[in-house]
Amino acid sequence: MSNFNSADIAAFKDVWVFCEQREGKLMPTDFELISKGRDLANELGVNLCGLLLGGEGIEAAAKELGGYGADKVYVCESPMLSVYNTDAYAKVICDVIEDLKPEAFLIGATNIGRDLAPRCAARLHTGLCADCTHLDIDVANYIQFLREASTLDVDGQKWDMEDRNLKMTRPAFGGHLMATIICPRFRPQMSTVRPGVMQTQAFDEAGAAKTVLEKVDVKLDKSDIHVDVVKIEKAAKKMVDLIGADVVVAVGRGISKDPQKGIALAQELADVLGGVVGASRACVDADWISVDHQVGQTGKTVHPRIYVALGISGAIQHLAGMQDSECIIAVNKNASAPIFECATYGITGDLFKVAPALIEAIRANKAAK
Ligand code: FAD
Repeated sequence: MSNFNSADIAAFKDVWVFCEQREGKLMPTDFELISKGRDLANELGVNLCGLLLGGEGIEAAAKELGGYGADKVYVCESPMLSVYNTDAYAKVICDVIEDLKPEAFLIGATNIGRDLAPRCAARLHTGLCADCTHLDIDVANYIQFLREASTLDVDGQKWDMEDRNLKMTRPAFGGHLMATIICPRFRPQMSTVRPGVMQTQAFDEAGAAKTVLEKVDVKLDKSDIHVDVVKIEKAAKKMVDLIGADVVVAVGRGISKDPQKGIALAQELADVLGGVVGASRACVDADWISVDHQVGQTGKTVHPRIYVALGISGAIQHLAGMQDSECIIAVNKNASAPIFECATYGITGDLFKVAPALIEAIRANKAAK
């Protein structure tokens, strides 16, 4: 029996990030979470550690994590970990956490992360805040976040400036409000974080060279695993890479008059701008476009250089996925559509007329150069 006690808060130290890999390749979410974890570890004055599980040879990928801020990476290698398996991963992660006791543990809210995190939290008898979009430890930083992102009377509240709990913020009640959740009585404080939300720091060669790798003894037996992965079939369809895109041209229900034409126009505009096509949930629900294009609270979070919204009203759940874009260009025939409130440039008009005009103008501009 382990003598692990999740309520013994003083026994826990350091910020950890679960680093997901597929076929030995680290996921972009790892770099986002390591970058954010670095800030949190600095605020606490502790180490930032990655936790990497995989088949033999996975250690080779670990150093890269130091380039984004990890001081140390715990590496768990076993042939039984080469392909993701809930039982195996949950067992190994819980073993390592029970042994080394991190105070905060971040996991990407990917399909794997969403499967793994609740199982680990339940086993470790701690809390989990799922699908976070913002994390803070330092109270002053958190107050600043509230000042910028909420309508709360921040100065009229009393704050415990010494509070060291991880403040985990996520959309709640269908995205109509943001809730900040803390886990004050148990450790580790666990959070899944939406992919694409946290900014990745610039890669630092020197940091990568300095990373300490520590191999962890994996105690895994066939009897720990109740599911066999027989075969992995990858979707033949190429998914759109919204999260990494520099330019996103998104369509909304405004294309309803002729959805195919609307999507073709968005694709053409995306092509001339060097971008990809996104969509509101209304278009996905209507089956006009596949779900991998969906931007928003239940879709992807993007922050491209340019976001063009064609016939999108600007519902709060859509804004949750794109409002941090550098430049937002909204086209809507309704001058009072809420999307205009967050738009850098707004064009009131019919997208079926405005989009071709934009395409033509951009082409002419390119030709003139
Ligand atoms: P509408 O709100 O119907 O807006 C269409 C807009 O097009 C209107 O503003 C109209 O003026 C304009 N228009 C019409 N014709 C034209 C034209 N010819 N030219 C120009 N403009 C035109 N939504 C998301 O997008 N992403 C999410 O992840 C998401 N998650 C959700 C999660 C929950 C729990 C809930 C409850 C809802 C969620 N939604 C999400 C749905 C969201 O609330 C809105 O219903 C949705 O975003 C509306 O999509 P839309 O703007 O395309 O459609």
